[in-house]
Amino acid sequence: MALTQTHRQVVYRLLPQTAGNWQWLETTLEAQRQLYNAALEERIDFRRKTGKSRTYFDQCKALTACRAELPDMAGCGIAVQRGTLKRLDEAFKGFLSRLKKGAKAGFPKFKGKAFFDSIAIVSGVKVRDGTLHIPGFGPMTIRRKGGNPHPDGRPVSAVLKRAGGKWTAVVCYAVEIEEPADNGHVLGLDRNCGQVADSDGELHAMPHMSRLEARAGRLQRKLSRQQKRSKRRERTKRHLAKVRRKIASRRRNWHHHVSRRLAAKAGTVAVESLNVKAMTKSAKGTVEEPGTNVPQKAGLNRVILNTGWTALKRMLDYKAANVITVPARNTSRTCHECGAAEAASRRTRDDFICVACGHAAHADINAARNIRCVARGRAPEHEASGIGASARREAFGLPTSPTREISARAA
Ligand SMILES: [Zn+2]
Repeated sequence: MALTQTHRQVVYRLLPQTAGNWQWLETTLEAQRQLYNAALEERIDFRRKTGKSRTYFDQCKALTACRAELPDMAGCGIAVQRGTLKRLDEAFKGFLSRLKKGAKAGFPKFKGKAFFDSIAIVSGVKVRDGTLHIPGFGPMTIRRKGGNPHPDGRPVSAVLKRAGGKWTAVVCYAVEIEEPADNGHVLGLDRNCGQVADSDGELHAMPHMSRLEARAGRLQRKLSRQQKRSKRRERTKRHLAKVRRKIASRRRNWHHHVSRRLAAKAGTVAVESLNVKAMTKSAKGTVEEPGTNVPQKAGLNRVILNTGWTALKRMLDYKAANVITVPARNTSRTCHECGAAEAASRRTRDDFICVACGHAAHADINAARNIRCVARGRAPEHEASGIGASARREAFGLPTSPTREISARAA
């Protein structure tokens, strides 16, 4: 079995068990925020004066010089400070790539206290016996249900994060993993609102979160009624953030389970290319041309975004042997049996009844099977009856097979 080098992140609870630990985390976080803002200002200044840009390495050099002069700065580990500079560098890289793509650029921002909640460590982290060794500070207790899933991994870097008054440590390990084996099975995957369907006929439904969502909605409405900057509003805010974190973690857990299950079943997983941004555009329209069904579309958008298609695809990308993307054209309205592409065949969200041949199936499974066909670059003549294969090719914009062309000419 071939082994490959890669990285895996493991999330631990970080337990600062002494007052000294707490204090170090809080003061270091604030010092890093100030360093981040100072480094951002330096980049802007440098650009204004010279017209050139500062790099991560330039700033690391400047950091070493600063540490020699200021004893206060030298009190903090250099791996932590470099982590902060790296974070700024990544913010700039993101800005430049968005600029290139013509998207909303979003220049890196100066961080207020409420917008800075993590400490990045670029090197020198060690994990042993339930503790994380932080360079320049010392050991701190970490805990994880099930322990470290990569006991042979080499810890490379870490990020200490604060959320809702609790700390977590995300440790990045360099690991050797077995490359996922390709068993030759191609699976089509239809991602829908709140569930995904595969071409084997299995539906993977997202766990219901309506109670949590309703609670988040109630808190949101309560928040909007409360006095700005009041203590009660702050309390509601914390409560709301907690509910939202719970929703997010439940969804992430589902993504991990589904992607692992699919990756184990098939060597190749085919998904449609979906432009989530375009699909979830508001129906509001403009002042001159107001849109219709605005609340309905807003509700649909929420469900689409909540399902988290992009996150699921990202997990599949590293878990499955192959992931291919196929154009989404006609996959949900084409009959898998006869190939007729009719919008009317899709009666309701779940029911597909072909208007041409009467074939009835779950709409998402029908679509998943079509996606599988497109992925294999041909209509499913070998798996279904031959009738309608050329119609299917047409529906998906595939070339007609030469044998069919000949038989069509003969006929
Ligand atoms: Zn049909």
